[in-house]
Formats: sequence, C-alpha cells, structure tokens
Amino acid sequence: MRFESVPDPRIEDPRDAIVRVKLTAICGSDLHPYHGREVGLDPGTVLGHEFVGEVAESGAEVDGFPEGTLVASPFATSCGACFYCGRGLFSRCERGGVYGWVQDGVGLQGAQAEYVRVPLAATTLVEVPDGVSLDAALFAGDVLATGTYAADRGGVGPDTIVAVVGCGPVGLMAAFASVERAADRVFAIDGVAERRALAEGYGAEALDVAEARESVLAATNGRGADVVLEAVGSDPAARLAVDLVRPGGTVSSVGVHTEPHFAFSPTEAYDKNLTWRSGRCPARRYMEDLLERARRPGLHLERVISHRLPLSDGVRAYDVFDRKLEGCTKVLLDPAG
Ligand code: NAD
Ligand code: ZN
Ligand code: ZN
Repeated sequence: MRFESVPDPRIEDPRDAIVRVKLTAICGSDLHPYHGREVGLDPGTVLGHEFVGEVAESGAEVDGFPEGTLVASPFATSCGACFYCGRGLFSRCERGGVYGWVQDGVGLQGAQAEYVRVPLAATTLVEVPDGVSLDAALFAGDVLATGTYAADRGGVGPDTIVAVVGCGPVGLMAAFASVERAADRVFAIDGVAERRALAEGYGAEALDVAEARESVLAATNGRGADVVLEAVGSDPAARLAVDLVRPGGTVSSVGVHTEPHFAFSPTEAYDKNLTWRSGRCPARRYMEDLLERARRPGLHLERVISHRLPLSDGVRAYDVFDRKLEGCTKVLLDPAG
C-alpha cells in the first residue's frame, strides 16, 4: 500500500463521468488483495470501490448528471441494457466492471482517490436525494446493499430464524435487513466482542463463534437455523454456516470466497437438502430503495463507522482496519483531508 500522486482520470468514452470523491471507504473486500488472497492486480492500481462525490465532468452521452450533481455509486458499473442487467443481475453486466481492479492493463481504477472515472455513468450513478447523509449514500452502494441482498437471497422474512456469520459492516447490515424483514429471531456471530455489541444494537442476539453451533441448535429444537447469512468469506465461516443451517434451509453467502474448494462435501449438501446461494451483489438494483430507506431513522451508521481519516492516512488506515485496532469496524476516508 502506498499513498502517492497519480494522473487524474480523464473522460475516455462519451458515456464516462469523472466524479470528485467527497468520501470513500475501506471494505472487507479490499482486504483480499491486501493479503494476496485475491491475486492478479497490476501494481499501482488505485484500490477502493465505495464512494460518494460530485460530478466534475461528464461525457457527451451522459444525460441527467450535470457538473455538481451529488452522486452515489454501486461498487460495480453497469449498462442497464444487457442480458444480465435486464434480469436485475447488474453485478454481472456484460459491459460492467468493479472499481479498483486493473489486471493486465484492463479494468477500472479505484475510488480511494480524489477523482474516479465512472464508465456507463448514466446507468451506474444515482443522484443522492435530499435528506440522505453522505455516509448512508456511501453504504447504499455496497455494504447496505450487500447485507440486503444476503437477506433477500436467503428468503428472510417473518417466521424465519436467521443466523448471520460475521459481524463486519456487511454482516451488521445483513442483521439489520433481517430484523427489518421481521425475522423471528436473528443470531449474529463473530469472535470480536465490539462487533457482537453492534449486532445487538441492531436487535440481533449475538453469539461468540465457539458457542454458536450449540446455541443455535438449542434454540431450534436441534434443527438449526432456517437461513444462514455468511458474511465473512473464509473456509471456517462457510463450514460454520453449513453446520448452523437446518435440513432444507438456505445458506446465502455474500462473503468473497477465494478457496479452491467448498468447505462441505456433496454428501453433506445432499444429506441436508442444502440450498447454497452466493455471489456478487447487484447493488445498483437496491440503491433507490435504500436511499429512500436512509431518509428514515434506524440505520445508525454512526455506530458502525469507527474511523474517519484523511485519505493521506490510507496506509495506516488499512492496517488499523485489517487488524481491528482501536475498535475499528469501518474506515471512511476523506480525500480533502
Ligand atoms: P470485515 O473483514 O470487516 O468483517 C468480517 C467479519 O467476520 C469480522 O468481524 C471477523 O471478526 C468475522 N469473522 C472472521 N472469521 C469468522 C468466523 N469463522 N465466524 C464468524 N465470524 C468471523 O468485512 P466486511 O466488510 O464486513 O465484508 C465481509 C465479506 O463480504 C468479505 O468477504 C467481503 O469481501 C464480502 N463482500 C461481498 C460483497 C458481495 O457483493 N458479495 C460485497 C461487499 C463485501
Ligand atoms: Zn465494498
Ligand atoms: Zn449490463
């Protein structure tokens, strides 16, 4: 990780916009390349995919986003017109990409910067409505959308017993979404006490990793949870998710998995009539609704956001976030210092 000057991005296509970043963040997803679990990134790539900002310049074909418009963005760009966008799976857009990933010279530079280039700007960006904080607008583009997606794909609703594995920002938002969907009970599991306390703040019943299996089984007549939302992205977390789900239940996994194999066998999947759902969140699909939701109280993002630092402290910020120093749960970075 380095903090240094790079050339400002420029319009490369008439559908591009350049956004002046007002607020950006470090995500658990940034830790995968940070630790070399995800490989292939070109050296010198600008990281980061969570941001809000103002349109600084827009290409000739970008309608509706004049200079100065306050915008939020999903972490991936999308065209709104291809096979996948037509089915709401914006995260698999045939023309889209994820910010902060350049490999062999191809891809998008990231948003942990003063300016970011947004391809397909008119179908990617969303204007931030009045009454929505920059924090909430930033969360709507990834963490809040991903937590909501996890709950949706798990079929969380009334009469479901939910276990959330991992209480990082994504898991916390998954717990929040589950409580909002009136789940019967929401267990939230993490090894870090501060993060468990945050989950309780959202109305979940927090459990330490070591006690999770026994407690969830005890609460469900030995069956297991109807739905497990996996928000870690590791073998032990996937293993725990399968241990916690009841026969016929669903594991909805949004953790980014970089292991070569599943943590459970085909036999176990068969014997549990398991449904395993996973993948990248189509955040764009959720943004209008989430920005609307953000006008009402209850999100309490001020509790999740533990650190606000200047972008120039980014190198230290990665270390603090990664090692969970200083009670760190989420770092926002301000390019203006
Ligand atoms: P984070 O690193 O802040 O949080 C992970 C949490 O998991 C930590 O609190 C950690 O203590 C806990 N944990 C670790 N091992 C555990 C275990 N075995 N059991 C229970 N808890 C455990 O990350 P985050 O920002 O909350 O992101 C979580 C995951 O979601 C990451 O893998 C990230 O890449 C992924 N993600 C996916 C999408 C998507 O579109 N699918 C979007 C955003 C983030
Ligand atoms: Zn993210
Ligand atoms: Zn598309």
